[in-house]
Formats: sequence, C-alpha cells, structure tokens
Amino acid sequence: MNRPLLIIEDNAQNMYMMRFLLEKSGFLVLGAENGKKGVEAALTAEPLAILLDIQLPGLDGYAVAAELKRYPQLAGVPIIAVTSYAMVGDRDRILAAGATGYIEKPINPETFVAQIRSYFPEGWDRTSGG
Ligand code: MN
Repeated sequence: MNRPLLIIEDNAQNMYMMRFLLEKSGFLVLGAENGKKGVEAALTAEPLAILLDIQLPGLDGYAVAAELKRYPQLAGVPIIAVTSYAMVGDRDRILAAGATGYIEKPINPETFVAQIRSYFPEGWDRTSGG
C-alpha cells in the first residue's frame, strides 16, 4: 500500500509547491486546507507523515498537533511543522505540542524533499512509495 503524505496548509501557493515537489519525487499527496479536515484525513488515510502549517484558520497548528497526539493509531506518524516563524520560542512550542520536527518557509525546492525524508521512520522506503 502506497501511503500518502498529508499536507495541512491553507495557503494555495504553498500547497501547490509542496505537492508538486513531493509528487515529482513519487509520493502520493493528500491535502487539507484547515485543521479540522486535516485531523479527519489523518485518521482515515494512515499517512506516512503529516506536514503541518502553523498559521491556519480555526484550529491553528499547535491545536492540530495536540489533537493528533490524542490518537494512539497516529503515534508512529511524524508530524513535521512547516513554519515561517523564525523565533526559537515558536519552535519549542510546536515541538511541545507534539510535532516531531519542523522545516522553515519559504520552502527550498532543492532540499525540501530530503528534509521531509529525514523525518521518516527507519525502513519506511521498503514498504512505502517514494
Ligand atoms: Mn497558513
């Protein structure tokens, strides 16, 4: 089964860029434009990893990360925050909320996919696409 990457991102341009780069590398991508839809998708799609924007309408990224951590079935799924916040306190806060790590906006097309891959669990490429 080719598990998708789930991107929770409200900005259409950012979503387009991340989806383009990941699909070009062979990943299946599922998009959600707000936190509520993102949590629903995470529970139904069994994603390989979740890319999570921080600034979202409704539930923000901190709230989404905390919500995702409530579900034992998602315990092994990396949550990678995608944030334009450069302040150390914001990084600490999203990690405390449950994110596995973070990458910074603007997305660097040359390193983005490698950055995402670095958060995958050991052995992911033997059982999943990408
Ligand atoms: Mn946003």
